[in-house]
Order: sequence, then C-alpha cells, then structure tokens
Amino acid sequence: MEKRVRVRFAPSPTGPLHMGGVRTALYNYLFAKKHGGDFLLRVEDTDQGRYVPGAEAYIIESLKWCGIEPNEGVGYGGPHEPYRQSERKPMYRAYAEELIAKGWAYYAFDTSEELDAIRKHAEAAKMPNWQYNSISRMTMKNSLTLPEDQVQARIANGDPYVIRFKMPRNEEVRFHVIIRGWVVFSSNELDDKVLFKSDGMPTYHLANIVDDHTMEITHVIRGEEWLPSAPLHGMMYRAFEWEAPQFAHLPLILKPDGNGKLSKRDGDRLGFPVFPLEWKDPETGAISSGYRENGYFPDAFINMLLLLGWAPGNNQEIFTREEMIEAFSIERIGKSGSKFDPEKTKWFNQQYLRMTPREKLADLLMPFIRSNGYSVSKEYAMQVCDLMTERAVFVADMMQGTYLFEAPKTYDADAVSKKWKKGESGALMTEWSGVLGTLEPFTSEEIESRFKQFITDKGLGMGAVMPLFRLMLTGTLTGPAASAVAALVGKEEVQRRIAAGVAALES
Ligand code: GLU
Repeated sequence: MEKRVRVRFAPSPTGPLHMGGVRTALYNYLFAKKHGGDFLLRVEDTDQGRYVPGAEAYIIESLKWCGIEPNEGVGYGGPHEPYRQSERKPMYRAYAEELIAKGWAYYAFDTSEELDAIRKHAEAAKMPNWQYNSISRMTMKNSLTLPEDQVQARIANGDPYVIRFKMPRNEEVRFHVIIRGWVVFSSNELDDKVLFKSDGMPTYHLANIVDDHTMEITHVIRGEEWLPSAPLHGMMYRAFEWEAPQFAHLPLILKPDGNGKLSKRDGDRLGFPVFPLEWKDPETGAISSGYRENGYFPDAFINMLLLLGWAPGNNQEIFTREEMIEAFSIERIGKSGSKFDPEKTKWFNQQYLRMTPREKLADLLMPFIRSNGYSVSKEYAMQVCDLMTERAVFVADMMQGTYLFEAPKTYDADAVSKKWKKGESGALMTEWSGVLGTLEPFTSEEIESRFKQFITDKGLGMGAVMPLFRLMLTGTLTGPAASAVAALVGKEEVQRRIAAGVAALES
C-alpha cells in the first residue's frame, strides 16, 4: 500500500515570513491536497537566541490569509502534539544518545574559546576553513580521544559539552532529490555537526530529522538554502536506520534584476512588499509593508507565487484553487532561480479584481467610500465598480473617480485652455443641459445617442464638444465615458454640475 503523503512547513520564528517562505508553504500545501495527504505546521524554535516574539502568530495569520492552512500542527493540533520543537525538547536527548550507542556520535568538550583559537591558528597557517571532522576530531577533547572514566566524570561534573555527529571518512554519499536528480558527495567534505547542546537543546539538524521521522513525513519540500544540509541528513537517516523521506529543494527567488536572492531587506527598498502581511519589528518598531495592506487579493498573491518557480507546461496563468491542486507536480518545479516581477504581481491582482463578482467588489469598496466621507447605497457602489474595474489594479484605485461621489471642485487647467472657448462653450453647455432635462429614461445609451444628435444638429464635431461635457462632469478628460458617469450621478446632479462649471469657467 502507498504511504499516506505527509508534508510539513517548518519555519523558525525568527521574524516575519518572507514571500519565499509562503511559496514553500504553498507548494507543500498543493502537494498534500493533490495526493489527499496531510500538511503540517511545525515550529522550529530550538535556536532561542533568534526567537522573535510575535513571529509565530504572524506565520499562522499569514497562512490563514493566503488560504493555505495546515490540517495538523501548531494551532491545529493532531496526533503528534506538541508541534513546537521547544515543547518537544525532552525527547531529543534519547535520540542523540542512541547515535552515541551506535557509534555514530560522540561527546565533545572543546570550549568555544578553544575552537576559536584553533581556527585562528589554522588561518595564520594559511589553512582557512578548519573543520571539526573525521581527521581533526582525533586531536580534540572528546569521547573518542579521552578515557571513558574521564568522559563520565566530566559529564557528572556538569562540564559543558556538545554531542557531535561522527561523519564517516571516505564514504560516497549518494542521494536522490526530486528536482535535481542524483547528488553525489564525498563524506570527507562534511564536518562533524553539533546535534545536541548541553543546555538540553537539540540543534536544527537533529530536531529536524527526528521530527520528520516521528511525524511520518514522506516528502521534504523546502528552500534551496537547505540543499547543503541534505548530505548530512541523508547520513543521519542511515545512522538511525530509518527510511528517509524524499527531498525536493525549491529554487531561489531572485531580485527583479536577477542579481542575487530576494532578501527580507529588499522589500520596501525596491518599492514592493516582500512579506504577506505588514510587520512591525518588536524591537525597533520599524514597519515593513505587506501584500495584504497594499490591497492585494490573497488569491492573486498565491497565483503569482505558484508560477514563481513552477510551470504548468502550457500558457495558462490564472488558476483557481482547484486547478492549482490538480495541475501541481513537484517534477515541474524549475531548477534555476526565478526572477520576482513586481509588475506581473500587479497584473495578477488586476485580473483577480476583474474576476471578482460586482457584489463582492462593492462590499470591498464600501469601506473606502465611507472613509472618504461619502455615503452611498450598495447598488450605487456596484455601479461605481462597473465603471471603474477596468481602470483599477487595486480596489482602492476605484476611488480615483471622486466625481462619482461629488461634483468636481477644480477643472483641469490644461484641458480648459485647450478646449474651453469663453462666451461660446458656456452657452453650448447650457443648451445641452436643457436638452438633457427632457431626456427620459436617463440612461447611458440615451444620453449618448441624444448627444450625437445634438452635435450633428449643431454641425459640430465630437472632439470639440465631448471634452466640454466631460469637464463639467468630472473636471478632467480621463476616466469612464461621460454618458456613463452622467447616468450614474443622475439628471439633476448633471444639470447642477453643468451650471456650476459654466459659472466657474465663464467668470
Ligand atoms: N526551520 C527551517 C527553516 O526555517 C526548516 C528547514 C526545513 O524545512 O527543513 O527554514
């Protein structure tokens, strides 16, 4: 029987979640859904020096906003509770000791001062990159070099120690990763990593392996920055005699110019958010912007991330959630980094704005209308949406047409000087206002056909008269069709605006 697919997103709560992290969570989520499996959230908080308050809550809220919620893990419960590594602390020691008993790990008592001194020495001797490894370990203070009674005495005495992995010498480490295929390493390139510290905390490597195993993870899908750890992890699975999960490493997300990895610091500096939600640094109070607060639809954000590293094999760009799940496969994740494109991200938002039903759009627009001090019915807001969606990327953009809510206060000076003929234009508009007064029903179509007739009768051209009408209505020459604006604001309002405009421009 095939094993049930179980994947995990395992962030460390060291700050806000970068959009690369959201992409990792998304790909895990899609893979789990596609295979009817589980998507877990595990919080890897063993490095207490880097713990940032609020980061965990931020991560959970971000996943919620994106609609990629785990079905097991921190905040969700499940059969492997707890899912926070700091709360799992008591279980790791036994695993480190198991490796010692099997001859795959050892106690090391070298202090950090001693290790620093050795590294400095090595550098001075033009041998940088000194490593604690299969050769150097035999000259260090550890349970491989010290007599057993001394080792026990030191531990009993409370001397600080770490437990290190005993990386074998001259072994070829071969393992298969899904996106890259076979990776071959010589164990001689790998050092004896610390697995456990005497404060009782495991390091990332031990906790990660033990948890993936005990939580029955079948596929590890994570960022490429973890690829260098994969040989060690493969070795550790061998040492524990556990079946390893399958590994897939996601390509980097690059800066828009392709020059290097898109980092947490790039965001606002380059003029776009790198975080899903706004983040306030608890120490400095500095605010970093978020996609949510910038007016993005979560589905547009997710759709953009889907294609930032994965390709469907055809030219489909817009995916519903179901289509994403259906189409997703790890095999179609690219090998090379993907350039982040902020303009394309806006394009996605525009597409989603256009796909949003007018009822829903009006609900989203209402708060903006209110906060601008206007009060209109929902039906009116829906008609505003009908006129403005084509011109908007974000819901807030639809407020650019303030003339849909109130008469213009100013008239575009450039347009006035080009189009308005004092003495002539005012009379023309007043006459047109009279014509409009007789128009029934006052719809966009009726206004438009009546307007055509009006200029034909006068022997005038569209280009001479339409701008005047627009100016009266909106104060500018851009925006939706004048007839549509007029129909929306209503006959009396149109006549008032024409009267006010004529008075202002003729004086
Ligand atoms: N805690 C690691 C991180 O923050 C997880 C790496 C992994 O998925 O194995 O990225």
